[in-house]
Amino acid sequence: MRRLESSIRLATQTWGTPIITMTRQKIHKLVLHPQDENFALPSWDGLIARLREVAFLGDQIGESLGERLGNPLEIEQPNRFLVGERFLQYITFMGCSPAVESTPPTDGSLDYCHIHFSKIYPEVRFRSASQNVFARCPQCRKSIGNWAQAVSLWSKDASAVNFNCDKCAEPVSLTQLGWRHTAGFARLFIDVNSIYPQEAIPTDPFLSLLETQTGTQWDYFFTDQ
Ligand SMILES: [Zn+2]
Repeated sequence: MRRLESSIRLATQTWGTPIITMTRQKIHKLVLHPQDENFALPSWDGLIARLREVAFLGDQIGESLGERLGNPLEIEQPNRFLVGERFLQYITFMGCSPAVESTPPTDGSLDYCHIHFSKIYPEVRFRSASQNVFARCPQCRKSIGNWAQAVSLWSKDASAVNFNCDKCAEPVSLTQLGWRHTAGFARLFIDVNSIYPQEAIPTDPFLSLLETQTGTQWDYFFTDQ
């Protein structure tokens, strides 16, 4: 699922011929997900209620934002929330004075710090950063070069989860690679928008809170798609 804002801009060359250039603004995200890729909740309701209670979440953004964007998908998926009053106690920013923009921009962009709960998918999904994805082989500990090809095969046939590492030739499972927070498999995701890789990480107490509430351990990765 891509959350790219596109804009088309008319540029005029010196001899007066208009050309169209397209710029795409990528939104960087911190994504939380259950470590067990097969884990699913019956619904987000219980977890959302708990996260509102502890003020990780603020007000629900919901349909008004989707209507403003003219995007029917947003209207069907209103699981967006402003950050809550205690958000910064659960997500640690690395800088000494983090500038967290948590107010929706007037242009309708989704590139501001807020929280989106994905659909709860019937099948396991793979998500990753668009570049610099690291996949460590659990056998030889080296960086695997053929992981993307393996993901591609797996996306066509979910039983094709095993493949052979291109470094040591040992059979490995896609879901057992060390992704170093650049990718993850899950059936549900919590996206925290407008966070760059390693700019902010969830605190251990917050990961414990998620685990207590859902009964499963959580992990996270950074992505721009
Ligand atoms: Zn290997």
